[in-house]
Amino acid sequence: MKLEGRNALVTGAGRGIGAAIALRLAADGADVVVNYLDDQDEAEGIRAQIEAMGRHSAALRADISNVAQAQRLMEEAITALSEIDILVNNAGIEKRAPFLDITPEQYQAQIAVDLSAPFFLTQAFVRQRVAARRPGSVINISSVHEDLPFPHFTAYCMAKGGLKMMMRNLAIELASCGIRVNNVAPGAIATPINRTLLSDPKLLKPLLANIPMGRMGQPDEVASVVSFLASDEASYITGTTIVVDGGLLWSYSEQ
Ligand code: NAP
Repeated sequence: MKLEGRNALVTGAGRGIGAAIALRLAADGADVVVNYLDDQDEAEGIRAQIEAMGRHSAALRADISNVAQAQRLMEEAITALSEIDILVNNAGIEKRAPFLDITPEQYQAQIAVDLSAPFFLTQAFVRQRVAARRPGSVINISSVHEDLPFPHFTAYCMAKGGLKMMMRNLAIELASCGIRVNNVAPGAIATPINRTLLSDPKLLKPLLANIPMGRMGQPDEVASVVSFLASDEASYITGTTIVVDGGLLWSYSEQ
């Protein structure tokens, strides 16, 4: 198995894309720490599924938008699995917030979860890898909106665009430490973050019309790419984004 002997921390792994990533990394041989914020039952369910595969796991609560809690999460994850060599910065929020209306609190919350948390978690991760003189892999779950404008979601796009530049910088800065840094950019994936969209045909139809493959993606279709990037099969890949979007990002047509 391609991730045998590897240890991963996946943020926001109780549901959605994060849960699929945690299960896929475990299926490919890794021990996995499942971070969650609110729903302990969901996270414990994922932990139980990972242990049923014969892997070690732990479900750890932390609000990663709080820097001290993010740093403590990394320490607790290392204590749980003895080391962490794969960090998946997955947890995110996506709040509609028109530019004229967004409050400072809403803005700060969006940036704190989607950009600052990956920054400080990656710093905590890299410090322990460098101290141990051991290699590692960081994978950020960004979005097609690291490139593609999304009106009324400016703070979300700023966070994801920032994550792209963080990834590119760190890939260069950390290459000599044996640490690879990459992004996976999903398009529209069927998860609870898209609850409103999925339940409203009036919103769903125009979205599907923009996706050349004509459907939303499944969390597993993102997870398989993360597992590849975490593995030695991707040993020469750093500083890049792999887009998983059914063709959405570059879709353009004139009828
Ligand atoms: P989701 O179903 O809403 O799950 C989000 C996860 O993030 C939850 O497990 C949640 O934990 C966790 N989380 C939120 N705030 C947190 C915090 N402060 N501290 C710790 N955990 C926190 O979303 P998803 O669709 O799986 O999205 C996962 C990632 O993919 C996000 O970064 C998102 O931006 C990105 N993405 C998703 C799509 C899509 O179409 N679904 C497209 C592009 C990018 P609790 O459940 O415990 O609250």
